[in-house]
Amino acid sequence: MSDPSSLHAEVLVLGGGPGGYTAAFRAADLGQKVILVERYPTLGGVCLNVGCIPSKALLHTAQVIHETQDSEPTGVHFEPPTIDLEKVRGHKNKVVKTLTMGLASMAKQRGVEVIQGVGQFSSDKTLTVSGAEGSKEIRFDSAIIAVGSQPVKIPGFPHDDPRLIDSTGALELADIPGRLLIVGGGIIGLEMATVYHALGSSITVVEWMDQLIPGCDADLVKPLHQKIMKWYDKIYLKTKVTRIESKKEGLEVFFEGDDVPASLLFDKVLVAVGRRPNGLMIAAEKAGVRVDERGFIPVDNTQRTNVPHIFAIGDVVGNPMLAHKASHEAKVAAEVIAGHKTAFQALTIPSVAYTDPELAWMGLNETRAKAEGIPYEVATFPGLRVGVPLGSGAAKV
Ligand code: NAD
Repeated sequence: MSDPSSLHAEVLVLGGGPGGYTAAFRAADLGQKVILVERYPTLGGVCLNVGCIPSKALLHTAQVIHETQDSEPTGVHFEPPTIDLEKVRGHKNKVVKTLTMGLASMAKQRGVEVIQGVGQFSSDKTLTVSGAEGSKEIRFDSAIIAVGSQPVKIPGFPHDDPRLIDSTGALELADIPGRLLIVGGGIIGLEMATVYHALGSSITVVEWMDQLIPGCDADLVKPLHQKIMKWYDKIYLKTKVTRIESKKEGLEVFFEGDDVPASLLFDKVLVAVGRRPNGLMIAAEKAGVRVDERGFIPVDNTQRTNVPHIFAIGDVVGNPMLAHKASHEAKVAAEVIAGHKTAFQALTIPSVAYTDPELAWMGLNETRAKAEGIPYEVATFPGLRVGVPLGSGAAKV
């Protein structure tokens, strides 16, 4: 017999990011008794607190600065801006606070009980939450795992040196480093480069593949590459960082690649080489939920894990690690639990890099079409490029 004083949820949601809070709200809207467990004091997860939202607030500031620079050829001259870093940071924090507070009140309005603490499964029907006030057990009928991901750390780098930062550190905006190295020319690296360049840092990017944003069509990336090549100090492709040494005068970074110096000194280094799922942190084995060796939780197209009443959504189930994918999967999981006949059947998931210029893409790209021998046609318009797989029946533009 279970302890009658213990908490009980018809739907327990573990993790309060865009996947978790959407799942909790949808389940509550469908009439379920929902408990949402989140380790941090605010809802919103990485996206709202230390990801999409603060970066977009800062990218807006960067865009305003860039527009004043871009207007020079049109005959309108602006003096270089004066940056009040504390105010820039304050604005970003205010945007985040407004949204996280909004989520807390939306949870309350729906009767979703939010419990703060670190949740780990203790069986396939119970979760133990350890928080500031000790630990408590929650019994559940169904559970939705939405525990997200964290930045990949490169072993051997001096991670205890505060000058070596990840995306969270970059968004804290502690200072505007004179020389900033960005390791990883993906979306996070290039969005942060956009922000710090606008604020006055001199930027170097190192990417180990042969193009920036390797998942995106090379032709689409080209205008971005050409623009930032003029702005940034250097962009090194097909280059690896082999070692970083903490020195008094900066971080000495050692490179391996063609046409790259053996080492350079930087005031700060941002490592943005991808994210890894948090599936290995929740004692999933006690619930019998299968997690692969990388930390991903396999699910079917209804978001169901190998344990029929336990579902998983968002970054922890696989790429692309995007908030809009997580929130769509969240609705699927909540609706399937409520007995709806629904499934995750996205034909394609769009991606956007909020760089300058911005890039957006979806579906099959030319590199993959070539690699997989898929016949295709390409139509190019200024600012738009459309590839249509032949015989696919896909809509033509
Ligand atoms: P990413 O996978 O987009 O990019 C990482 C880049 O680092 C890749 O280009 C990779 O080739 C490179 N790389 C990996 N190891 C390297 C090494 N040792 N040296 C040099 N380069 C190396 O990952 P990210 O930029 O860290 O973003 C993580 C996730 O967050 C992605 O899934 C991304 O889609 C998501 N995200 C999305 C948005 C958005 O939608 N606008 C914004 C930020 C992040």
